[in-house]
Amino acid sequence: MNRSLALETLQRNFPAGADAALIISPVNRRYYTGMPSTDGALLVTPTDAVLLVDFRYIERARQVAAGCEVVLRDRLFPQLRALLEARGARTLAVETERMTVAEFSRLRAGLPGIMLRESGELDREITRQRAVKTPGEIESVRAAQRITDRSFTELLNFLRPGITERQAACELVRLMREFGSEGEAFDTIAVAGPNSSMPHGVPTDRPLAAGDFFTLDFGAKKDGYCSDMTRTVAIGYATDEMRQVYDTVLRAQRAALAVICPGVSCREIDGTARQIIEEEAGYRGCFGHSLGHSLGLEIHESPVFSPLSQDTTQAGNLLSVEPGIYLEGRFGVRIEDIVWITESGCENLTGSAKELLVL
Ligand code: ZN
Ligand code: ZN
Repeated sequence: MNRSLALETLQRNFPAGADAALIISPVNRRYYTGMPSTDGALLVTPTDAVLLVDFRYIERARQVAAGCEVVLRDRLFPQLRALLEARGARTLAVETERMTVAEFSRLRAGLPGIMLRESGELDREITRQRAVKTPGEIESVRAAQRITDRSFTELLNFLRPGITERQAACELVRLMREFGSEGEAFDTIAVAGPNSSMPHGVPTDRPLAAGDFFTLDFGAKKDGYCSDMTRTVAIGYATDEMRQVYDTVLRAQRAALAVICPGVSCREIDGTARQIIEEEAGYRGCFGHSLGHSLGLEIHESPVFSPLSQDTTQAGNLLSVEPGIYLEGRFGVRIEDIVWITESGCENLTGSAKELLVL
């Protein structure tokens, strides 16, 4: 994405009452500068920006960071004090939601005479901005999702009775790396048979057996951006009841996808899928999580599709749509795609087929 554009947007919508803003969380520093680093500080004012990084990152930061001056970090607080003083800045907005109490205390002690604004305006502005993905950001997500789709297709050749959940998860992770993933977007979920009724179960050494549903929830990373997909396949055969549950989840997902466009209440979109699962099909209490979440540099971002959401969709949002039905101690099904909301509707970025596969 055009990083200087992201910085300019922050500068145009600067937190009220603040002369400067300090961004120290790795994810937000990366969002505004394009520079990944475990440590560093980005000082932004309405007219300029300075990125302070240590020796480990300085060479790369000078190449990568756009729209800001890159400075070698030596002693952070004296440097920050000098930068703030040179700009006549007296009030500093900080990322209250990303900071520990200890970090906040150190900052307060290290910057005497500077008023720290802890009202959360900076967090809200950053969240608002990151919720709207640019075409450049979406290109990275698309690349990550292509790796995810390709890895799933390849994995299907590997799955057979006797392979354990853990072996399948390892193979999936290996395939994603082979196809260009920088790392996993989150810990791969691979749960079969009775384990599949736990939405976020951990892969075990249980071997796949005929008659199992096998749910795989996984994602790759490209340029720091995450993908996220869930597919549920049947091993050997599927009973009528398994097919009925699968069809219900798929129908709920398709119904939700069909109503996603800008300007719709996120709660209503969740309700579209929930109505089919709980009311029409009668699986009350079996879909105990939200329909979907935003994703980007992080796997869980705002807004979300949930019964409690107060948000309305807008063009640029990128969310997962992942209804499920979980029958405790027996089996579960979840199907998850990711969609980018456009001016006219939404684009599904997930390429893998969704018809029930019996392997
Ligand atoms: Zn997922
Ligand atoms: Zn998800």
